[in-house]
Amino acid sequence: MPAFEYAPAPESREIARLKPSYQIFVNGKFRDGTGEAIKTINPADEEPLAEVAEAGPSDVDDAVKAARKAFDGPWSAMSGAERGKYLFRIARAIQERGRELAVLESLDNGKPIRESRDVDIPTAAAHFFYYAGWADKLGYAGHGPAPRPIGVAGQIIPWNFPLLMAAWKIAPALATGNAVVLKPAETTPLSALVLAEIIAEADLPPGVVNVLAGGPSIGQAIVEHPDIDKIAFTGSTEVGKIIQRTTAGTGKRLTLELGGKAANIVFDDAPLDQAVEGIVNGIFFNQGQVCCAGSRLLVQETIADELIAALQRRLTTLRVGPPLDKNTDVGAINSAAQLARIRELTDAGEAEGATRWSPPCDLPERGFWFAPTVFTDVSQAHRIAQEEIFGPVLSVLTFRTPDEAVAKANNTPYGLSAGVWTEKGSRILSMANRLRAGVVWANTFNRFDPTAPFGGYKESGFGREGGRHGLEAYLDV
Ligand code: NAD
Repeated sequence: MPAFEYAPAPESREIARLKPSYQIFVNGKFRDGTGEAIKTINPADEEPLAEVAEAGPSDVDDAVKAARKAFDGPWSAMSGAERGKYLFRIARAIQERGRELAVLESLDNGKPIRESRDVDIPTAAAHFFYYAGWADKLGYAGHGPAPRPIGVAGQIIPWNFPLLMAAWKIAPALATGNAVVLKPAETTPLSALVLAEIIAEADLPPGVVNVLAGGPSIGQAIVEHPDIDKIAFTGSTEVGKIIQRTTAGTGKRLTLELGGKAANIVFDDAPLDQAVEGIVNGIFFNQGQVCCAGSRLLVQETIADELIAALQRRLTTLRVGPPLDKNTDVGAINSAAQLARIRELTDAGEAEGATRWSPPCDLPERGFWFAPTVFTDVSQAHRIAQEEIFGPVLSVLTFRTPDEAVAKANNTPYGLSAGVWTEKGSRILSMANRLRAGVVWANTFNRFDPTAPFGGYKESGFGREGGRHGLEAYLDV
C-alpha cells in the first residue's frame, strides 16, 4: 500500500483563548475556591496549561445552598418554554465558540482536534438543542401530565469527554427544571469552566448551575451532602460502587454510567472493509478511552486471518501524533496514571500468553503516548479480555456459531455496548435481543445521538442518558 506523506496542519493554540488561571463558578459568580490551586497540563507534552482554583468542602456547601435557593425560587417558578430558551441560548453559544472549545478540549485532554471539532463539541451543542425542545413538552414524555423535577442534582463526570459529559448531565437536568452542582474531572476542568462562562453569559438565574473544579474528595463531598436530592455519576465502576454504598438509605436518587468491555462481533458475511473501519473507530477513537469502546473483537473463525490482516494493514496508516494537527488520528493518553494502567494491563496480556502487535510508529518523547495495539491468541480468561483497559488496545477472540458469539460477548461483568457486523437484518435483530448491552450498534460503532438513550446493564451501571428516557433520571417519577 502506498504511504502518503502529510504536511503538518496544526490548528492554532491561540484559538483556545487559554487564560493563565480559571476559577470555580458558584451562585452565578466566578471566584477562587478554598481548596489548593492546581496546574492542569497538556498530556501531549506535559507542559502546564493554566492554574485552576479548586473547590473545598465549604464551596460545595455554598454551591448546594445556591442551587437550592435557585430551585426553590426563580427556576421552579419559570415556565418550561422560558427554561427552554436558556437551553437554546447555551446551545447556540457552544456552536459560536465551537472552534475555541475544540482546541481547548484537545489541549486539556489530548484527543485529536478532528474528534473534538467533529464529535465532542457539536454533540454537546446537539444535547442542549435536543433537551431545549423537551422543556415545554414534559407533559408528553410519558410521566404524567405535569411531572415534577427532583431538586438539586450533584453531577460528577470523567475526563474522557469533558464537555460532552457536562452537556449530557446539565442539559436534561435543566430541561426538567432541576438545579445542578457539577464537578469535572481533576485532569480536564477547563471546558466545563468555559461552559460556566457561557452559562453566565446566557443569564441563567444565579445558582441554577454551579461548577466546582476539584478531585475525588470534592466528588465525595457532593455525594455526601445532605441537601442534594440526586447524584448522577459517570466514571469507573469502582467509584460507582462507593457512591452507591454512600447513597444507600439516604433517599438520594442515583444514576451510574460506568465502565464497559464491549464486544464488536464480525460475522463471515459482513462487508469486511467497512467492518475494519468500524473496528478502528470502535477502539482507537479517543485513544480507546471510551466506556463503550469496542475493546473485544469477536470475529468468525473462517474470516479471522483475512480480517486481522486487513486490520493490520489499515493500522499502519493511522497517524499517531500532536492532537492539534488536523491529520492526527490518535492523540495522547490523558494522564500518566492512565498510561501506567494501560501498560500494566498490556504487559499482563503478554505475560498470560497473548500475541501483541503494533504498527511501526514513532511516539513523541514527551507526553503520555501509547501505540495502537492488537492482541491475538486471546483467551476469555485473560485479563485483557475481562478488564477495561481504557486505552488503544484491541483484544481479538474468535467464534464459530452465533450462539458462541453471544455467550462470549455476554461473558463479562459489564454490559454497556456491543456491535454486530453482518449483511443479514434478521441476524442483527436476533443478536440485539440476546446481547446484554444497553446499546447495540449494527454495521457501525460509537455513534452518539442526543435522541437515543445510552446506559448499561450489570456493572456498567443503571439509568439512561439521552432521548426521552434521559428525562426520567431527572423527574420525580
Ligand atoms: P474515576 O471514577 O476515579 O473518576 C471519575 C470522576 O469521579 C472524577 O471526576 C473523579 O474526581 C470523581 N471521583 C473519584 N473518586 C470519587 C469518590 N470517591 N467520590 C466521588 N467522586 C469521585 O475514574 P478515573 O480515575 O478518571 O478513571 C479510572 C478508570 O475509570 C478508567 O481506567 C476507566 O476504566 C474508568 N472510566 C470510565 C469512564 C466512563 O465513561 N464510564 C470514564 C472515565 C474513566
